[in-house]
Amino acid sequence: MDATLREQLANAIRTIPDYPHKGIQFRDITTLLGQPRAFRRAIDELVHPYAGMGIEQVAGIEARGFILGGAMAHQLSCGFVPIRKAGKLPHETVKIAYSLEYGVDEMEVHKDAVHEGQKVLLVDDLIATGGTAEGAVKLLQQLKADVVAAVFVIDLPDLGGRKKIEALGVPVRTLIEFEGE
Ligand code: AMP
Repeated sequence: MDATLREQLANAIRTIPDYPHKGIQFRDITTLLGQPRAFRRAIDELVHPYAGMGIEQVAGIEARGFILGGAMAHQLSCGFVPIRKAGKLPHETVKIAYSLEYGVDEMEVHKDAVHEGQKVLLVDDLIATGGTAEGAVKLLQQLKADVVAAVFVIDLPDLGGRKKIEALGVPVRTLIEFEGE
């Protein structure tokens, strides 16, 4: 990806200092979503290495992963699988606990949403410590899906999330990096 594009995406993201806690620089992608060219370019960049690879499902992490994932699934002509906070999905699910900055939470996916060997691309807006995406990869792998890659618009490399995902055998692709947390 060229530097101009990286700059275009970085400029389209709004940073809110000290939200939701002091010391956190919140990277707000709603401004990117609101800019047609930046939104389209971000989706194009997220999917292009995987076009023609036979991806069968895009799995998105609630909630910003749903927005990106829906657009990606449309572009790849494949299905979309929501990974949701516990208690939101109506049918039989598999559930996993994952670590947050303070404590743990649970996420789940419908048991029949992916099948053994199915090629799945995972997406969220941002990877920080990697705890959320790690939980999502483990859920999909429990269902024996082939998680081809995990993709994110933003990487916070200082927090080391990428390594957690790669340790599960899943390559990571991100579009831009921001320093700090
Ligand atoms: P983590 O599990 O630490 O990788 O955190 C990733 C999840 O938390 C993603 O769903 C992000 O949307 C959200 N998140 C974490 N840090 C930030 C941040 N600085 N700005 C915006 N979202 C964040």
